[in-house]
Amino acid sequence: MNVAQRVAVVTGGGAGIGSALVARLAREGARVVVADLDTDSARAVSEGVNADHPGSTVSAGADVSDTEQIQQLIDLAESAFGPVDLYFANAGIAGALGLDAGEQDWDRSIDVNLRAHIRAARLLVPRWLERGEGYFVSTASAAGLLTQIGSATYAVTKHAAVAFAEWLSVTYGDRGVRVSCLCPMGVNTRLLSSGEDSGDALGRAATRAVTSAGDVLEPAEVADAVLAALEDECFLVLPHEDVREMHRQKGSDYDR
Ligand code: NAD
Repeated sequence: MNVAQRVAVVTGGGAGIGSALVARLAREGARVVVADLDTDSARAVSEGVNADHPGSTVSAGADVSDTEQIQQLIDLAESAFGPVDLYFANAGIAGALGLDAGEQDWDRSIDVNLRAHIRAARLLVPRWLERGEGYFVSTASAAGLLTQIGSATYAVTKHAAVAFAEWLSVTYGDRGVRVSCLCPMGVNTRLLSSGEDSGDALGRAATRAVTSAGDVLEPAEVADAVLAALEDECFLVLPHEDVREMHRQKGSDYDR
């Protein structure tokens, strides 16, 4: 898909990978709703991008754990720019770490890292089936493909996010609904440093497992990989060469 003139919603757009996606999409001529739990960050990203690409974005505070708030993002996109062509389910949290994670920790991680994707798909896919096209981009993680030391809630919800994206793709792909699933390893964002900063041994081990496994990419490099995948309509987006290599060694189908 060529994103020029297309309408996109990016959740978690106020920081890290999401803000890089917003900047890259606007550069390519897309119109973007920048959504984040942190309303001020979303506004700051939107204003910064609009300075270079006037009128290309609007911002909104939104918690993706609430269906109503996702619906409001879709409505905002529609009133500002037109029907949503691309939805980036990118907001994510590292979550609690080990077996001491409580019920509420699990609920929050499942809500933000998995059910938010399901909520958005339930709202958008029926419209896209009517229109015959739409693009769902799920930010999962390499931790959703290869389990590594670190957060239990993260590993489990990211595996489930990969499974949901794949299910969407095999179920609706032949009716115009495109799906890509982004699975990076380490990316230089607040989420990555939060493990090291947590003071928790498992958190530090998680960050070190990722950073010692290979390169830590900048968010803009990840956004470039996503945009290339959108053009090729490629399902799995693995910006890290070492993760691709692991899959080659496993003989995995994911090497595409
Ligand atoms: P980040 O912390 O820089 O950005 C995440 C953004 O999501 C923040 O602005 C935060 O406010 C927002 N957010 C959190 N909960 C939200 C909610 N309930 N509703 C709306 N917004 C919410 O982190 P990032 O690294 O840019 O993370 C983006 C995505 O990339 C996440 O899904 C993360 O799991 C994934 N990821 C990150 C890495 C990495 O190494 N940084 C690796 C693999 C996957």
